Amino acid sequence: MTHLVLLSHHLNATYIQNIHCDTVTIAVTKAQFETHRYHKKRIVYHLAAAFHFAAEHDIPILYEPTWADILSNLPSEDEFIVYEPVEWSMKQDVWDAFMADGRHLTMRPDLNFMVDDILMELGDPPFKLDPLYRRWRHRFNILIENGKPVGGKYSYDAANRKRPPKTLDVREPLMFPADAITTDVIRMVEDDFRNHPGEAGDFQYPVTRDDALLLLDHFIAYRLERFGTYQDAMMENRPFMVHSLLSAAINLGLLFAAEVVRDVEAAYRNGAPLEAVEGFIRQILGWREYIRGVYLRMGKDYKQKNALGHHRPLPGWFYDADVDLNCLNTTISETIGNGYNHHIQRLMIIGNLANLIGVRPLEVNNWFNEMYIDSFDWVVTPNVIGMALYADGGVMSTKPYISSAAYINRMSNYCKSCKYDPTKRTGANACPVNALFYHFLDRHRERLASNPRMTYMYANLNKLDENTRDELVDYARQFIRKQ
Ligand SMILES: Cc1cc2nc3c(=O)[nH]c(=O)nc-3n(C[C@H](O)[C@H](O)[C@H](O)COP(=O)(O)OP(=O)(O)OC[C@H]3O[C@@H](n4cnc5c(N)ncnc54)[C@H](O)[C@@H]3O)c2cc1C
Ligand code: SF4
Repeated sequence: MTHLVLLSHHLNATYIQNIHCDTVTIAVTKAQFETHRYHKKRIVYHLAAAFHFAAEHDIPILYEPTWADILSNLPSEDEFIVYEPVEWSMKQDVWDAFMADGRHLTMRPDLNFMVDDILMELGDPPFKLDPLYRRWRHRFNILIENGKPVGGKYSYDAANRKRPPKTLDVREPLMFPADAITTDVIRMVEDDFRNHPGEAGDFQYPVTRDDALLLLDHFIAYRLERFGTYQDAMMENRPFMVHSLLSAAINLGLLFAAEVVRDVEAAYRNGAPLEAVEGFIRQILGWREYIRGVYLRMGKDYKQKNALGHHRPLPGWFYDADVDLNCLNTTISETIGNGYNHHIQRLMIIGNLANLIGVRPLEVNNWFNEMYIDSFDWVVTPNVIGMALYADGGVMSTKPYISSAAYINRMSNYCKSCKYDPTKRTGANACPVNALFYHFLDRHRERLASNPRMTYMYANLNKLDENTRDELVDYARQFIRKQ
């Protein structure tokens, strides 16, 4: 008998239809939620989606402490097939368990990535997204007409960076109140994972394919139009801004990346603005594919990289948001509440501040793995180690994504209700982000000052008189010491 064992992120009928198999089981281990102290909402998402998929397709589900327990419930004579997890550790765990038990196992490539020869495509570091994205647009014939990009340009990135409006006139994303299955899962998670961060009780994300499709349709109908304009903007009390909230549904397999890309491309033909459609497609056909490639290419030790030599421990407010910088307080309160932040909050608030303070990259990586409903090590690690922290020394980015308060003030309304003044560098109520920014530049001068993309930042630093520079460094050091 050929026996397909589906993992909790392969929850799509296509995985079953794609191969010949006699029987199917869904396998979820409690141990997979214990490799990190995962946010309760992430665990609910995985379990509720798996139990719903099992019920909808009438497939048995095994939720057991470990893989050894799963295998003790599966017939020993079967030939097993598992779709390959991207994560090194999960792949190893599954493989080791089957081998230790003397089972016959074949691993098949995952179906939820568009570029199946990603390692060949990526080439050698430094990895550049732009040429790959252009090539993939042609390869998959997305937003291409007569061999040319629709509208004449491949990227409308520059149009995606508008400041936040005074009030955001965009509908909130659809939410899905918990049904009986999800309610049972919530109770179980609150019991079994009570020491994990976050709350599970108000879980409202889509855990079935039908609901995920509704979320996608609603996004396309009511929110995509503004995605192009306000993709990088941040506002208090609008945690989801104009973003799709689809990452977890895609990463769990409820939706396939390729179908999301096609549906959004179709929206362009139905009148959606090109800069919104292209901007969104670039995130999936561009970033998501590229990120997986970097993870695979950089190997198991990628998360250990620490090119800037940062060794400070993660401040406690990463877990309770007890910090008086409004940008951090707002963003991390949303992380704890929702298990979600949009991209710019992850990159330019949390990643930025962790880097300016000099937190050890592995600790930051672990936190990002723990706290988000959509987290998987393959997507966290390149985004944190490569993109947010520059801990790989430039494998992914040409310069660190750091900023002073000026960027945060331009792209959010957080500074308006903050006790600090974003325009002040020193003195009473001066924004600590400014001091931390100059301190970062000062302590990494040797490594970064010759980087052509940082000339402007160093020119500004060099313009400061010595007293101001000393004051800034003192203020930053005091701030860091208090964390
Ligand atoms: C430090 C850091 C950590 C991150 N951790 C995760 C993570 O654990 N899981 C995760 O799925 N994404 C992660 N991302 C990428 C991105 O922030 C999230 O995919 C996005 O915020 C999810 O929200 P959304 O679905 O509303 O996205 P939208 O803004 O609506 O974007 C649409 C889709 O594009 C894809 N996407 C966008 N940016 C990226 C990216 N940089 N890498 C990979 N896919 C991308 C996602 O599938 C997303 O659903 C991280 C980014 C940073 C900077
Ligand atoms: S003033 Fe400074 S600390 Fe306050 S929200 Fe703005 S950037 Fe953050």
